[in-house]
Amino acid sequence: MLRNFIDGQFREARGDSVAVLNPANGETIGSVPDSAASEVAEAVAAAKRAQPGWSRLPAIERAGHLRRLASAVRSRSDAIARTIVREQGKVLGLAQVEVGFAADYMDYMAEWARRIEGEIIPSDRPGETILLFRKPIGVVGGILPWNFPFFLIARKLAPALVTGNAIVIKPSEETPMNAAMFADIVAESDLPHGVFNLVYGRGATTGEALVRNPDVGLITFTGSTRAGTQIMAAAAANITKVNLELGGKAPAIVMDDADLDIAAKAVFQSRITNNGQVCNCAERVYAHSRIADAFTDKLSSLMRSVRSGDPLGNTAVDMGPLINRAAVEKVGGMVERAAAEGAQVVLGGKPDDRGGGFFFEPTVLVNCRQDMEIMRDEIFGPVTPIHVVHDLDEAIAKANDSPYGLTSSIYTRDLRTAMRACNEINFGETYINRENFEAMQGFHAGVRRSGIGGADGKHGLYEFTQTQTVYVQI
Ligand code: NAD
Repeated sequence: MLRNFIDGQFREARGDSVAVLNPANGETIGSVPDSAASEVAEAVAAAKRAQPGWSRLPAIERAGHLRRLASAVRSRSDAIARTIVREQGKVLGLAQVEVGFAADYMDYMAEWARRIEGEIIPSDRPGETILLFRKPIGVVGGILPWNFPFFLIARKLAPALVTGNAIVIKPSEETPMNAAMFADIVAESDLPHGVFNLVYGRGATTGEALVRNPDVGLITFTGSTRAGTQIMAAAAANITKVNLELGGKAPAIVMDDADLDIAAKAVFQSRITNNGQVCNCAERVYAHSRIADAFTDKLSSLMRSVRSGDPLGNTAVDMGPLINRAAVEKVGGMVERAAAEGAQVVLGGKPDDRGGGFFFEPTVLVNCRQDMEIMRDEIFGPVTPIHVVHDLDEAIAKANDSPYGLTSSIYTRDLRTAMRACNEINFGETYINRENFEAMQGFHAGVRRSGIGGADGKHGLYEFTQTQTVYVQI
């Protein structure tokens, strides 16, 4: 059983054991403890003790620690990537990109060390100066999903540490083993004890204990809207600040003047990348009536070419399994209900349990209507529902008609159409004529039930700071 990493030491936890499975064959490959509130409290206390000394270090020295961690990650990238493949099921190439991106992200956030600036504000009073400081929040709790488990460690840890906070991370109980490899790296590094702590466990026990701990100043959470709602309610008890990166239902609008090869390839990548389990990827298509059939043919032929299977040790595979059996049942149920309501299954549509794994066939559905569950709820699998629209007004209105507001995309050659969509589409991110994949210098933030606050770039960095305004008369 994996051991928590608290105050620079690996410690046994007393909770029940939670099995970790390889989704490609359903076999148990490890286990984690379901850490209790007392164990979470030890981790938070260690972070609280370490944080003042850490924040007094010059920011450039904190950045040096991040750079050394990034370099240690690169030196073990192959082993980490294989662990991600084994416990999460993405293809090896993508796991390698994830680990490299995590290391680059630490370097990128390290570069902000000399740029975390305050402000000087003119006062109404003679001789007075108003100073606005940017300070660390203190102890940050990071709660992670399973879909990009290693990158999410970097996305929480790097901005927290460079701004002078200490952190306690709880990885997903589905994918804890890559986080254990990061703890090994920290244990061998010169990072001061207590600055980074790791506790394993389920959301309802370990996660909730972290959220309810009064010494945690910020909970930064990435995961489902359902869990985000529970976390926000639990955080309300102490008025703990929350940063929530939640689910999505990204619309892709394909206009009649679009380059259909670009559009089909980008939507295809959305549904296949990470086996269709990416928060910002296109989840519903609004295709203009003049090109809907041609677009569907191109997309279906790409989806038909997908080779799926166990991605471990097989680089010829394009797509692996879903994360667990419950995910297969959820996706299968959504497809069945859509078909019962009149959607036509052009391709796929069924679970595939070859080798005991949690696979689902690449699926394309047409004749989907706006009121169908498949067009409204997050699928998180390799399924593309297509709905025909007749003009841009209809496409924008239907894209906006969603409780989610994370990402969106439009395919068109007309700049006026693209700019109208930018102005009228109400989403945190919009991609024009390209696949949905954010940059670390952007700002990844959802509106409506997709979240509060955001990550990446300057705006993401400042989520980990609090201000102090000082009025100076001397
Ligand atoms: P999840 O919400 O089931 O679990 C995420 C984490 O929250 C896990 O560590 C879990 O143990 C914990 N958790 C669950 N309930 C909790 C509670 N009540 N209190 C505290 N912690 C709790 O999500 P998942 O299945 O791991 O990830 C998939 C979801 O994440 C999808 O909805 C996807 O869209 C979303 N996601 C969003 C982004 C983004 O940037 N917006 C990125 C990746 C994934």
